[in-house]
Amino acid sequence: MKRLTILGSTGSIGCSTLEVLRLHRDAFEVFALGARASDGRLLEQCLEFSPTFAVLEDAQAAARLERSLREQGCRTEVLAGARALVQVAAAPQTDMVMAAIVGAAGLDSALAAARAGKRVLLANKESLVVAGDLFMQAMRDGGGELLPIDSEHSAILQSLPEQRECWPHDVREITLTASGGPFRRTDPAQLASITPEQACAHPNWSMGRKISVDSATMMNKALEVIEAHHLFAMPADRIRVLIHPQSIVHSMVTYHDGSVVAQLGAPDMRTPIAYGLSWPRRMASGSSWLDLAQVGRLEFERPDAARFPGLGLAYAALRMPSGACAVLNAANEVAVQAFLDGALGFTDIHRVNASTLERLGDSHAQELGALLELDARARREASSQVRAAAR
Ligand code: NAD
Ligand code: MG
Repeated sequence: MKRLTILGSTGSIGCSTLEVLRLHRDAFEVFALGARASDGRLLEQCLEFSPTFAVLEDAQAAARLERSLREQGCRTEVLAGARALVQVAAAPQTDMVMAAIVGAAGLDSALAAARAGKRVLLANKESLVVAGDLFMQAMRDGGGELLPIDSEHSAILQSLPEQRECWPHDVREITLTASGGPFRRTDPAQLASITPEQACAHPNWSMGRKISVDSATMMNKALEVIEAHHLFAMPADRIRVLIHPQSIVHSMVTYHDGSVVAQLGAPDMRTPIAYGLSWPRRMASGSSWLDLAQVGRLEFERPDAARFPGLGLAYAALRMPSGACAVLNAANEVAVQAFLDGALGFTDIHRVNASTLERLGDSHAQELGALLELDARARREASSQVRAAAR
């Protein structure tokens, strides 16, 4: 029996993880569930999975959850606050941690799981973007296993040889595929008036709102380039991005002998989640079977830099001093939230990101404290640019 903590359990990845676990009740036990404030959904999850702990970052929501659980006679203990998320991530009673909080808010708990030597199922790509070197070092120090949940990075891991020491010698480059999102063919003149609802209507994947907007701007792929750089110790000039609208080929590795190894499957996050849970074995995920004859056609095209200018920011940030990626991530989180709140236009997301990176990208930061300080500074800078754009 493996024991699992799921942070971000009420979100898209969290719920998909619980769907996979429903198929394997005999092999996994839920130790803790954590989320921000969604006490209603967390209550249902506690009643179904009876974790030892349920954590909500928001204290009032935690108090409501506590009351409801007592009324229902459920013995799950409720904890509140960000420190409690860190505690359940590092607790000796858990073997694996699904890090599926959205944004830099997930960094502390993901780092705690890494340091504690857990198997870390990393959906929270922002952790690696903000503090990639630190996070990878924490994984090595902790001695646990890092299994990426992002479908592209899971695909790369599945396409690489098992012996890590071969990677630098054998691999020529890695290619991340990207669907191109809902606006791959939209007239660029119309992009400025895109609404949050249009941006969140992804053609192939159903996801949380932040990553949906990131997919529409292709900032998601920008963050994934940085993520891949850290996960696979790959220099930026050997990481490519290819648009593949069907989202069937999840990513690929090109070897020096000319071979290309790719992982394919239906676009369903339960596949990479099940892979992370069962690695190095395989187990059922609930995903549908890929029928290539029915898909019929797989298309590929190079991303259009004019339509998706955000992608270039990842390569720019990777050439800048150590804090630049944290700056880019912070700016993007602020800009996307402002867009979702109706306070910023769709195309202004890139403007805020680019100019925040230009102003603060020269910053060096390696230690956690310095990175968090820089993250806060970049948020202030991006917020002031959002206000300026609104005037
Ligand atoms: P979501 O918005 O659906 O869910 C986010 C979860 O995080 C919720 O449970 C929420 O309560 C929790 N959360 C948010 N802020 C928090 C805080 N301050 N403290 C504690 N909990 C907090 O997001 P999602 O789509 O599930 O994405 C989660 C992560 O996985 C993101 O980093 C995203 O980039 C990554 N990811 C998602 C997908 C996908 O298909 N959804 C695919 C690849 C990677
Ligand atoms: Mg992805």
